Amino acid sequence: MNDNLDNAEILLVEDDKISRKMVAYHLKKHGYTVYPVENGQAALDFLEEKIPNLIICDIMMPVMDGMELRKRLLNHPDLRLVPFIFLSAKADLQDKVEGWMMVVGDYMTKPVEPVELIARVKSVLARHSLYEEMINYDHLTGLMSRRNMEQKMTYELARIKRFGRDFSVVMLDIDHFKKLNDTHGHAFGDEVLKEVAQTLKDSIREVDFVGRMGGEEFVIAMPETDKETGFVIAERVRKSVAALEFKENVQVTISGGVSAAPEDGLAQADLLKVADDALYEAKNNGRNQIVAAKSKTS
Ligand SMILES: [Mg+2]
Repeated sequence: MNDNLDNAEILLVEDDKISRKMVAYHLKKHGYTVYPVENGQAALDFLEEKIPNLIICDIMMPVMDGMELRKRLLNHPDLRLVPFIFLSAKADLQDKVEGWMMVVGDYMTKPVEPVELIARVKSVLARHSLYEEMINYDHLTGLMSRRNMEQKMTYELARIKRFGRDFSVVMLDIDHFKKLNDTHGHAFGDEVLKEVAQTLKDSIREVDFVGRMGGEEFVIAMPETDKETGFVIAERVRKSVAALEFKENVQVTISGGVSAAPEDGLAQADLLKVADDALYEAKNNGRNQIVAAKSKTS
């Protein structure tokens, strides 16, 4: 998948050779990368290896037709989110209605004008990117969403496994956040969340990523970082937050727990659990502190 929409990767599913060549030609001319396959089954095989930014799919095809492919994709937890356009010779209103009912980004009929093809592709890609932004970023703080964090961590951890690198995870939680909300109001609570989020953003390197996991809980994930360094960075963040100035001299503090791969696990769920346990210890020890999980190996 390519993040830059101007050279998006498009899976083109079309059995007719001439039509496939024509459509691929116009898409490529506009900078898109095109992967042509001949039927629904070939598309499924392709999708096991690679997830494109968009699928453009014919309906009438041998082996597996477009309707069947669409049905299968809609039942797939990841693939159902890939933008999908039907491009078919079936141009009757009833055909179009059937196509639209398959939760598609668009339904185009053949032969399609190149200008129209490109305009519709651009529109579907742009619309999808708006959804992605909504899903992947927390509205209040602008930090990565939990879903985005989990996906990014899973992806990064697969690399760690392959290359045997370090990876540190810090789980942070604002101390007595409920009390802050109850005493000073929710608008103040929101301001605290935004300020803490900004502090986190300012504290990390370009390669690190930080997300809001929900409520007053944040996670920093740091590739190529061992637990000791993760702890040092978390301490720095903790001090920066404690130094923030709020109205009426309200003091805001955070507690944190640090875990690291490979010693605490190689799955994001394990690393988050170990960091969370360390965070719990920090809370029990009196808050406004960071605890690094004890290594199982030492
Ligand atoms: Mg066909």
